[in-house]
Amino acid sequence: MAAYEYETHDYDVVVVGAGGAGLRATLGMAEQGLRTACVTKVFPTRSHTVAAQGGIAASLSNMGPDNWQWHLYDTIKGSDWLGDTDAMEYMVRAAPAAVYELEHYGVPFSRTEEGKIYQRPFGGHTTEFGEGPPVQRTCAAADRTGHAILHTLYGQSLKQKAEFFIEYFAIDLVITDGACTGIVAWKLDDGTIHVFNAKTVVLATGGYGRAYFSATSAHTCTGDGGGMVARAGLALQDMEFVQFHPTGIYGSGCLITEGARGEGGYLTNSEGERFMERYAPHYKDLASRDVVSRCMTMEIREGRGVGEEKDHIFLNLSHIPAETLQERLPGISESARIFAGVDVTKQPIPVLPTVHYNMGGIPTNYWGEVLNPTTESPDQIFPGLMAVGEAGCASVHGANRLGSNSLIDLVVFGRAAAIRAGQVIDKDASVPATNKAAVDDILARFDGLRYAKGAVPTANLRLEMQRTMQADAAVFRTDKTLAEGVKKMDAVAAKLSDISVTDRSLFWNSDLMETLELTNLMPNALATITGAEARKESRGAHAHEDYPERDDTNWRKHTLAKIDGTKVTLDYRPVHVDPLTAEADGGIELKRIAPKKRVY
Ligand SMILES: Cc1cc2nc3c(=O)[nH]c(=O)nc-3n(C[C@H](O)[C@H](O)[C@H](O)COP(=O)(O)OP(=O)(O)OC[C@H]3O[C@@H](n4cnc5c(N)ncnc54)[C@H](O)[C@@H]3O)c2cc1C
Repeated sequence: MAAYEYETHDYDVVVVGAGGAGLRATLGMAEQGLRTACVTKVFPTRSHTVAAQGGIAASLSNMGPDNWQWHLYDTIKGSDWLGDTDAMEYMVRAAPAAVYELEHYGVPFSRTEEGKIYQRPFGGHTTEFGEGPPVQRTCAAADRTGHAILHTLYGQSLKQKAEFFIEYFAIDLVITDGACTGIVAWKLDDGTIHVFNAKTVVLATGGYGRAYFSATSAHTCTGDGGGMVARAGLALQDMEFVQFHPTGIYGSGCLITEGARGEGGYLTNSEGERFMERYAPHYKDLASRDVVSRCMTMEIREGRGVGEEKDHIFLNLSHIPAETLQERLPGISESARIFAGVDVTKQPIPVLPTVHYNMGGIPTNYWGEVLNPTTESPDQIFPGLMAVGEAGCASVHGANRLGSNSLIDLVVFGRAAAIRAGQVIDKDASVPATNKAAVDDILARFDGLRYAKGAVPTANLRLEMQRTMQADAAVFRTDKTLAEGVKKMDAVAAKLSDISVTDRSLFWNSDLMETLELTNLMPNALATITGAEARKESRGAHAHEDYPERDDTNWRKHTLAKIDGTKVTLDYRPVHVDPLTAEADGGIELKRIAPKKRVY
């Protein structure tokens, strides 16, 4: 092994990730007077949050009646009764204040005539506990909401003197006596190694969309936090629930926001039929995402897909006035032109369900504290470690996330983690000393990959993993495809020990960085397909053809997956069914939020 020198840094808090969740946590930590470092592998405003288009959900009632109880009901129903009710209640109650806070920080929201924040309809968001018409709850800055939020939060974090370590790749967590005491990171532009000692580490590393072949997420969404947690011997939760967005552009996977359907767009099949009217008579094209994706897949499987191969669907916007498209959806008009060669004022956009969001992740409570569940204490926390944003699983999205509920999750739980850290971190205590043995172990793994002389190039193995996941862990799942998929993924993961890295340098070595990312994607992918194979029911995004019904008696529980090499061990923990307060169901004694069949 090469000898590695390293520089050490001491902080109260180290946040890994500078997307919406990481920046909101960083800003909050700094505001609490905690010495805070934010470590990020890409420039903060290049994080995937920048691509969020449609908006952020909060019951502001700017466009008509709304309240947090309705938002709670929709979120519970959207989650197909797998989310933790306390966390969901915490989120929807905190949502309006969190959005006004963003407004005051400077987010340039679109406006109504009276100057209020503009809100648009989004799938699954309704009134009257799912019995009234759709609600306009999604606060938008045109179709560039994530961009606006990210830039604002970055500016505010700098103002609060949070310190940024940009283009530093976090390799692994340092664990000392059953607690997290820091991270080891590799500075990509000069090859130096850095050890960050901290009282608390916050993982805000985003999702792992790139475990699949076709995804709307950035190439940097490689589940690094999940990989680190898995290597630390901790569990990942509900990984089998992967959201397919109905409208990725056919071929490129580039996203067309649900806001397009919110503004009146609709889907058609090869017969020109608005088929969603058949499946979801009430909410039609604005039923929740898993439902719409499944219906599209069904139309295609039954031979009513469009195009030469009859393998996709059309999204129609041309009936919407050109000025409205220009004002409300300028970004997607551009994407459709660039990625599909389509003028949305005249032609439909070819679309296909595409991997979009990971409901599963690192299990936490609603303060962002990472859980280390045991049978006796399913809510036990792992000291010194927090997780927020798409990397975490609080769980507010359960088996299916509603559109615009992720951006609100980022800011609500980023803020909650900071409040909690302010309560539990002793500013006067000393920062944990460098755990040299643990750092050496981490660097030994790093060095092993740097000098890996196997037979399989990283890019080939990644492609094999992505194709396997796309084929066997996608929208439709059967016992047969899942069992085959698990076998195939075991074989794919085993090849990691035969990986070949050809670039040995420490500067701008994308070969080594992508290999590290692949070692993170792999445990995420294994947990996803193994958890899916085990879950013998259909719930939210997990639609199992051999078990088409939801089974609350046996399966209303969170999956916990521990991964050791290629071996995945599954366990389960109960769903939190009780809300935080008595008003959560609108004062009708939990009848509204009790499980029932999910129809739109
Ligand atoms: C195209 C698209 C559109 C979307 N639109 C919406 C929408 O309109 N409304 C909505 O609610 N949701 C939307 N979503 C979902 C939502 O945007 C994401 O879930 C959310 O932005 C994730 O934010 P995050 O902060 O958790 O992670 P990200 O924004 O992905 O940021 C991850 C951060 O972690 C850092 N990082 C990762 N690994 C490492 C490492 N090893 N070392 C150092 N740093 C690391 C990265 O540098 C980055 O800063 C959309 C998603 C996509 C893909």
